[in-house]
Amino acid sequence: MTCLRLVLGDQLNPRHPWFDTVSPDVLYVLMEVRQETDYVLHHAQKIIAIFAAMRRFADRLRAAGHRVAYLRIDDPDTLPSLTANLNQLMALHGATAFEYQAPDEWRLDAQLKDYAARLPIPAHCVDSHHFLAARDAVASFFGTRKRWTMELFYRYMRQRHGILLEPDGAPLGGRWNFDAENRKPWRGDPPEPPDLRPIHDHTALWASIQAAGVASFGNPSADAFRWPIDREEALGQLDAFVEHALPHFGDYQDALSSRAHRLFHSLLSFALNVKMLSPAEVIARVEAEGRAGRAPLAAVEGYIRQILGWREYVRGVYWARMPGYDASNTFAHDRPLPDWFWTGQTRMACVRAAIGQSLTHAYAHHIQRLMVIGNFALLAGLDPQALHRWYLGIYIDAFEWVELPNTLGMSQFADGGLLATKPYVSSAAYLHRMGDHCGHCHYRRDAHIGPRACPFNALYWNFLDRNSKHLAGNPRLAMPYRQLARMPAAKREALAARSAELLAQLDQL
Ligand code: FAD
Repeated sequence: MTCLRLVLGDQLNPRHPWFDTVSPDVLYVLMEVRQETDYVLHHAQKIIAIFAAMRRFADRLRAAGHRVAYLRIDDPDTLPSLTANLNQLMALHGATAFEYQAPDEWRLDAQLKDYAARLPIPAHCVDSHHFLAARDAVASFFGTRKRWTMELFYRYMRQRHGILLEPDGAPLGGRWNFDAENRKPWRGDPPEPPDLRPIHDHTALWASIQAAGVASFGNPSADAFRWPIDREEALGQLDAFVEHALPHFGDYQDALSSRAHRLFHSLLSFALNVKMLSPAEVIARVEAEGRAGRAPLAAVEGYIRQILGWREYVRGVYWARMPGYDASNTFAHDRPLPDWFWTGQTRMACVRAAIGQSLTHAYAHHIQRLMVIGNFALLAGLDPQALHRWYLGIYIDAFEWVELPNTLGMSQFADGGLLATKPYVSSAAYLHRMGDHCGHCHYRRDAHIGPRACPFNALYWNFLDRNSKHLAGNPRLAMPYRQLARMPAAKREALAARSAELLAQLDQL
């Protein structure tokens, strides 16, 4: 008898209970397939990183004594679809059972459920043993409530898992959330920590990806490629983050800088999302630093909130709202993405930096994704589905379960406010407060009208103006709507005209 066990490219967890025992009756299957490279146009580094990590994982399994079938992208016998390859392997090895770990993406979950249901042999889906909350935990927690406020779920998770609590169950330090202390701009001191991530030469792998004819974009080059491809490397990166960056993470979490693209972020999302690291171990490690007094509580709480709160929460929103969530478009926005989303060639310095580094490194930190690129996209009324495909393709950590709620929900308010309590939009004032790009920008941050006025300004006021029916009642937008109401009609009209002019020439900005 042979049980065929499928390991997907984002299921590279060597500590999964599957691998506790070695059996000659089990065949692990990993495959590089066109179905996965082609569902969206991907950044070259994302394809390289996943395949390199899969190959390393397969080698480790073999070294531990497991039987492994590995299908390479450039092998002529590898078929484009997951299930066609499974059929071939089942026949070849006379499989008597099929098992797979619960996929995180709805697309793969549906495909494998359907496949398993049609098989003439027993088929089972097992837990991936990664997340702290079940797929349906967020839906059960919020039930029929109109708004699903992350903070409430986060507090519940803190209590349920006993994280950052005093012995009596109260939040450590007397507060649940230190976000208000995590909003400092960064002026160069303390310096950005050294980049201790590994450097790999993936020239041969890249050549085989290209030989297979896989389309991609972004920079594949070895000097820019700094992603961990196994658990040991990911643990090394966690160590480096905890030692050098965590103490400052909180302070500069929302900062934007033209001199530093990592700042004090952990860059662990790839390792977490392909399951080299578990969220529980990262949280435990960071909490221990805080309790030992080696990192301030505001940094520790701020970091843990991202993983225990946001990461688990967006996954729950995804499973509660799929299928269908991907079509959300409350504002009916439909403008195509300007060409510079693919080149970074825009005169807006903050956007140029955020998109430019995304093309170079397959990475931008949260505030660049939310308050620079996403902010512009929402103000300009870009098609949220096109934007979703762009985010899903460009970032090293982009998997639909986490990318989609962040893009459509948090960043574009396309779900009408299920996830975000207000649209994350701003004029140049916020970007200037949090960063240093305005000082060397073609556009003037303090001008609203005229050819050199920062596009964020007119687009911001016009966005609020044209959506007032929808948004004016939102208490978190009360202040800007009061400002808008006080604005002379002539200024409002001039802003609308400037906004129309900008929207007519987005490619030229
Ligand atoms: P850090 O700032 O060091 O944060 C630590 C960890 O917290 C991250 O590694 C991540 O696992 C988790 N985290 C932080 N914020 C979020 C969040 N909002 N949702 C879920 N997890 C979070 N994250 C992805 O993992 N994949 C995506 O495809 C993705 N797409 C995004 C798209 C948009 C429009 C926005 C606004 C955010 C997106 N995020 C995504 C969330 C966040 O920007 C990234 O997780 C983070 O920038 C990754 O870098 P880091 O590891 O240095 O994070």
